[in-house]
Amino acid sequence: MTTSKGTSRVRLLEAGWDRSLDFEASSEPLPAPTGVEVLVEVGACGVCHRDLLDREGRFPFQRFPITPGHEAAGVVVAVGPDVRDVKVGDHVATMHRDACGECAACRAGETSLCEAAAWVLGILADGGYARRLVAPESALYRVPAGLAATQAAVLHCTFGTAYRDLVTLGGLRGGMRVLVTGANGGVGGAGVQIAKRLGAEVVAVLRDARHADYVRSLGADHVVIAPDGAFRDTMPASGIDLALDSVGAPTFLSTLRSLRVGGRLVVVGNVVAAKVPLNLGFIITRGLTVVGGSGATRREMEAVLALHDEAPFTIAVDRTLPLSRADEAQRLVRAGGLTGRVVLVPEP
Ligand SMILES: [Zn+2]
Ligand SMILES: [Zn+2]
Repeated sequence: MTTSKGTSRVRLLEAGWDRSLDFEASSEPLPAPTGVEVLVEVGACGVCHRDLLDREGRFPFQRFPITPGHEAAGVVVAVGPDVRDVKVGDHVATMHRDACGECAACRAGETSLCEAAAWVLGILADGGYARRLVAPESALYRVPAGLAATQAAVLHCTFGTAYRDLVTLGGLRGGMRVLVTGANGGVGGAGVQIAKRLGAEVVAVLRDARHADYVRSLGADHVVIAPDGAFRDTMPASGIDLALDSVGAPTFLSTLRSLRVGGRLVVVGNVVAAKVPLNLGFIITRGLTVVGGSGATRREMEAVLALHDEAPFTIAVDRTLPLSRADEAQRLVRAGGLTGRVVLVPEP
């Protein structure tokens, strides 16, 4: 059995920026899903900074050729015989990867840390820059039918990540003083909104003052401008309880130094390849906690959707482009200076 409609997709053939991403228009039918696979008609796919790292082959296990994209949303059009949690007609969005359900991390409910994940979208498995996507159901979560695909697409990698980092890993509570770097970015902007919603006082760190009004509109109480990433004054000076660093090497040491004694830093961004010279004594004597975050679980996505349902977040989309312009979309993201995601939409 095959599904009736064909597919078009984008292909990344080799690492680097010398050649364009190939757009392949095709009316070839996709085989019907088997086992726990789900076939999704893609409504939109976000273009994430990580897609640029995938393109550059920054992950040693990157597969080529591949269809990029780990931020897809759409409607289920067929399911394999072993699928339990979703059905035809459901609106779904992707997480970064599948989860085996059986390893120690999965048994502890930490599915985003699954050690046996084989279906890492855009790295090991074909992703969402396509009209149709096949993925195991454990890599998907249900979204409300009323949520636009362009918004649903980016929710996991931005709000899901920020929620996990701040709430699950960071222990965010009302009254805390929370610092967010890269606050105008996808994860950063989500972090500002979630921290504010849960009652924190929020310090936003930006590279460029022209984003200051935007992050204030998201809920930032204080804005620190740090053109080269380094900053000293975080107003208020008494120290940060919890920091979310979505930038990496340029901001990491300033962020660490901004913490109060016993403070916690969640690292989620690593936008440049540079390493960081770390003074271990500073961490030891001040009793700091540094933890890494990436992605979110279905349970965390349910919490994000509940918050969004209570009062909608600002899910910033800079622009949408047709799937055939994926190469241009990635180069726009690479050039930077956008407010929100670029989102690809398959042509009708
Ligand atoms: Zn992403
Ligand atoms: Zn697992």
